[in-house]
Formats: sequence, structure tokens, C-alpha cells
Amino acid sequence: MSPTEIFRQLTGHDPQGVWAAPGRVNLIGEHTDYNEGLVLPFAIEARSEVAAGRRDDGVVRVLSLQKPGDLVEADAAGVGPGQAVGWSAYVLGVVWALRQAGHDVGGADLVLDGRVPSGSGLSSSASVECAAALALAELYGLDLPGERLATLAQQAENDVVGAPTGPMDQRASMLCTEGHALLLDTRDMSTEQVPLNPAASGLALLVVDSRVHHEHTDNAYGDRRRSCEQATSELGLRALRDVPLDGLEETLRRLSTDELRSRVRHVVTDNARTRTVSEALCRGDWTTVGQAMTASHASMRDDYEISCPELDLLVDAALDAGASGARMTGGGFGGCAVVLTRADLVDTVSANVQKAFARAGYDEPRPFVVRPSAGARRLS
Ligand code: ADP
Ligand code: MG
Repeated sequence: MSPTEIFRQLTGHDPQGVWAAPGRVNLIGEHTDYNEGLVLPFAIEARSEVAAGRRDDGVVRVLSLQKPGDLVEADAAGVGPGQAVGWSAYVLGVVWALRQAGHDVGGADLVLDGRVPSGSGLSSSASVECAAALALAELYGLDLPGERLATLAQQAENDVVGAPTGPMDQRASMLCTEGHALLLDTRDMSTEQVPLNPAASGLALLVVDSRVHHEHTDNAYGDRRRSCEQATSELGLRALRDVPLDGLEETLRRLSTDELRSRVRHVVTDNARTRTVSEALCRGDWTTVGQAMTASHASMRDDYEISCPELDLLVDAALDAGASGARMTGGGFGGCAVVLTRADLVDTVSANVQKAFARAGYDEPRPFVVRPSAGARRLS
């Protein structure tokens, strides 16, 4: 059943609208976001939809088609950090973020249908938050730009869900446009739409879910952030973004350990690769894009040490089958890889990855073609 039909069952009337926000894949620029660097995500077709209507009693009711039977009810004025737990915190957190920013948001019925695979690094969380943010803003007549809603959605995730994530996911879900990637500069939060239309050049972007979800992701993430802070202070800079690529090895010699040198090398080179890729996309130079993606994977594997055997095998098997470029995407230690390939090789590449995983005794990976899609919007 559609979220609209479930909404009718729940409330006895039609929703005032249905809003949608997509998941995303980061094409390149990994772990650069907390170093004031560049990232280049694009929205995918998979999205979360929210059928919503206003309530005048100040009560927020949230239902997810993916969490049947779990109708969550809360007082709009009573939600906040420490008050909301579980999946509904992603929605109630947005109510809180809007209210604490001074916006007069009250009760609402929200029925959520999330079609972004959850926990695979495609940012189902941001898709839920952004769909809810857009729905609530329109229900309450708030004329807020997408950038502002993205910031509030990020606050919901940081402060109410309690996940210390950067600014990329919500901005991608909110601001991406069809046929483009979003070049986001996390220093000043400025954005640029970069043409990304592989199909027009006989190419395809393939995402492969490795099906690996390692437990120690959070610790490793904290470790990497601390290393970056340490290196920043040893170099006397504001952020690793400010380390010039020219003369990099000389700069690295000023650091106290080999580990810090490797971490900084990744951040600086991936930041440079992100710029290289966005410039190459503007002139249709896909060869450069593919090479930079593969170089980025090597950097994450060898310097930032956030890959895992499954992702390395995935990337190698894709390249062996003729893909033009491949890299893990997302925080690391599992999740998905993104592969650039000729469109007529999609099946060959997918089959080769599956064969390699079967031979290694790994769980069957899930490949699917993604198309750079539109960001959050009202559907009806
Ligand atoms: P990712 O964003 O990479 O998919 P996260 O751990 O950040 O992974 O977010 C996943 C969480 O978001 C889920 O555990 C759940 O709490 C919430 N979520 C995502 N989609 C839905 C949905 N359709 N219904 C309810 N909760 C959802
Ligand atoms: Mg998430």
C-alpha cells in the first residue's frame, strides 16, 4: 500500500501532500568533509516518501511502512535531545530542529515509506530527515531555502539521533538535481551543480553493496578525526584543506608519525582528486574521472586504511572485468562501492564481482545501476 493509503487509514482523511527525498552516493571526496574540504555526492533514484497532514492539537504521529505496527506519538513541544529514541528520532529530531530555530511547527501526521536500503551507506537517514523537513516546512508555511532545511536536518541527526555526521548527506538529499553531482565545499558550504550524465556517453554508474557491515566503524571514525586534528595542530593550520598539494611530501615530513603522514596524504590527495573529477566532468573527460576514482580507492586502502578485504576484492574484480574506475564510497569498513563502467559491460562487471565473492566465500554482493537524480521535492 502507498503512504497515502496508509495515511487515509490512520487519519480518515487525505494527506495535504506527499514529499520525497533521495538517498545519495558519494562519487569522490571521502573523509574530506571534516577537514573543510570538498565532496561530490549525487542523489540516487531510491528515496523516502512522506505523506503528511497538519494537526491542530500539537501532537506529532509518525508511522513508517518499514516499521509496521510501531505508531509513535509525541508532543511537538516535548521532543528534543534525549527525548526521542529509535527510528522515530530521525523524524522527531526534525520537528525539534525546526522549533529550536524559532519556527512555529506544531502537530502533524507523518506516514513514511523509505525505499533507500537502510544502513548500507546510501544515507537512508538523510532521506528520511529531508523528506520530513520539507513536509513540515510546507505544512507550516515556512519559506526556507533547501540549504537551511539541510542544516536543520543535520542538526536533527547530530543532536537528537546522536550521530556525529558531517554536512554532506542532508545537503546532497536536499540540493542535488537530476543529471548532476553536487560539488560541496564544506569550508563555506557553497555548492555547484556539476554535470553527471554517464548514460549520454554510453557509460553507467554501478553501485555494489558489499553486504559487509563492520562493527568498529564508529571507533575508527573517531580515530581518523582525531588524527586529522592532531596533524592540523602539528602543522599549525586551520584545517587539512589548507595543506597544499604542491610539495606535499615535504610538508608531511614535519609530522611526528608515519601514521599521521599517511592520513594527511589521503585527505589532501582526495580533496585534489575531487576537484580534478568535477573539472573533468565539466569537459566530459571520463577517463580522468575513472582513474581518479581508482586512485581514491588505493588512497583509502593504503593511506587512510578504511577499506576491508571485501571492498578491495570488489574494486579489483570490477576493474579486471573492464570497469573504467571503482572505489569504496562512504565511511568505510564495508558498505558500498561505486563503479564507473561502459554501459554494455554492466552485466560482465557485476558477474565478475559476484564470481569473485563466491570464490572467496563472501556473502553475495548486490549490484545496481544508479542514475543521478533529483533532490527533495513535493510529489503531490
Ligand atoms: P544509512 O543512512 O547509511 O542508511 P544510518 O544508520 O545513518 O544508515 O540510518 C539508518 C537508520 O535510519 C535506520 O536504522 C532507521 O532508524 C532509520 N531509517 C531509515 N529509513 C527508515 C524507514 N523507512 N523507516 C524507519 N526508519 C528508517
Ligand atoms: Mg546515515
